[in-house]
Amino acid sequence: MKNIAVVGAGTMGNGIAHVFAQKGYSVSLIDINDASLQKGLATIAKNLDRQVAKGTITEADKEQALKNITPFTDLKAGVANADLVVEAATENLDLKLRIFADLCASTPEHTILASNTSSISITRIAAATRRPDRVIGMHFMNPVPIMKLVEIIRGYSTSDETTDKITELSKALDKIPVPCNDYPGFVSNRILMPMINEAIIALHEGVAGVEEIDSIMRLGMAHPMGPLQLADFIGLDVCLAILRVLHDGLGNPKYAPCPLLINMVTAGKLGVKSGEGFYDYSEGPKATKVSRMFAKK
Ligand code: NAD
Repeated sequence: MKNIAVVGAGTMGNGIAHVFAQKGYSVSLIDINDASLQKGLATIAKNLDRQVAKGTITEADKEQALKNITPFTDLKAGVANADLVVEAATENLDLKLRIFADLCASTPEHTILASNTSSISITRIAAATRRPDRVIGMHFMNPVPIMKLVEIIRGYSTSDETTDKITELSKALDKIPVPCNDYPGFVSNRILMPMINEAIIALHEGVAGVEEIDSIMRLGMAHPMGPLQLADFIGLDVCLAILRVLHDGLGNPKYAPCPLLINMVTAGKLGVKSGEGFYDYSEGPKATKVSRMFAKK
């Protein structure tokens, strides 16, 4: 595989394009929104600069990586020669079904179509194409250039050949691929989201405060970040959407989202991106002062 197309230049798409370009692949980076595309390219340049400053790559490596990326706002033109497409567009079922139907019509027969979705069924996405054996989940973690895991999700019809190729490719990116089957939340979010939800329930029931819950999980379980801070970082709207996928898809009341989480999302308190969640980010993304809603009286 030589030519890689990445659909979506947002948080995940620019990171995915970055790692492929750095490893010498020819990358088409596609976004319908030109401003997002330019922002994605600027983020890649900034992150490569950081690697140069740290001494992990040279200035020449950086220049070559940037040369390996060609931006497109037209999907058809961007994917025409792709051996692999990694879709990292907005998390929306109808949008992804449309993109995959278009990808199937606009790419060569051999092209593997991968999605970076956090929660949408790969089997369902694959059913929008005429090549479900060549559709797979390639779930990178944020921030992509740093995090080692790629969760490889086999849809109901994904072939062994497709899985093997994507596993090898992930290793070539210096990532660690780990396979799982296509059920709601896959493995990562099926285990992470109930933990975050339970932390919110504990807060809601007054078991402990925000800092106490996070400190206990950080210090006691060696988690780098407490579950409430992590929820703020992921986005409370995203956590709620994934919990709903688990609740609907598995039909078990244990996945029901905590009413406090629903209230916070309804009130527009989404975590880091909105400036307030369980913590206050009005002074920047690193500020971890407890939100005034949860500060001790
Ligand atoms: P984002 O909002 O930062 O970026 C999405 C980008 O997709 C935007 O730039 C948007 O303009 C573009 N887009 C929308 N429709 C498009 C189309 N038809 N064609 C091309 N581009 C289009 O979102 P994100 O956080 O990067 O998430 C992308 C995907 O990655 C989602 O499926 C999400 O579930 C998944 N994911 C996110 C994270 C995370 O931590 N953010 C982690 C793992 C997986």
